[in-house]
Amino acid sequence: MDKSTNKQQDKHVGLYDSFVAKAHEVFVDGRDKTREAMQSAIEKAREQMTTLGELSSEQGKQFQRYMQRDLEQIARYFRDVGEEAKDQLQPARMSAGALATMSVLLHKCSDALLQLSIKAEAAITYRAGELTSAGTLTCTQCALTREFSTTSYIQRCPSCHNDTFMKSH
Ligand SMILES: [Zn+2]
Repeated sequence: MDKSTNKQQDKHVGLYDSFVAKAHEVFVDGRDKTREAMQSAIEKAREQMTTLGELSSEQGKQFQRYMQRDLEQIARYFRDVGEEAKDQLQPARMSAGALATMSVLLHKCSDALLQLSIKAEAAITYRAGELTSAGTLTCTQCALTREFSTTSYIQRCPSCHNDTFMKSH
């Protein structure tokens, strides 16, 4: 990978963290703390950042999808692992961009956000070329795990070159 690609990717990582922070701000300022309000906060973050030209409309759609995916994944993790997960994802213990912000959201508004996980249980996969919030990705083919301490670009599996991963924390 050349230097300019790296730079571009660093910029996207920062933008995704800003996107999640913006959605968080809109949600916290709003009156309703429901799942619908969360969806509309994400929508608003997308509108604002594309209007300001910080994101292209394509990136806006991608980031919206990434955040919905990450929230759903974290909500399921909270639900499946329970108290231990809440402990592990204490916002005070994290300095991990988008993940830290979403963890604040889940601690403040877990009722609304845990509803996210009521919908059909299709597996949530993470693909090479996408951004991911911090956490551990496991290759679906060879089970190699990789830890990301910040929001990161996902590369193909270094061991088997597979492009699909599952996430835990
Ligand atoms: Zn692999």
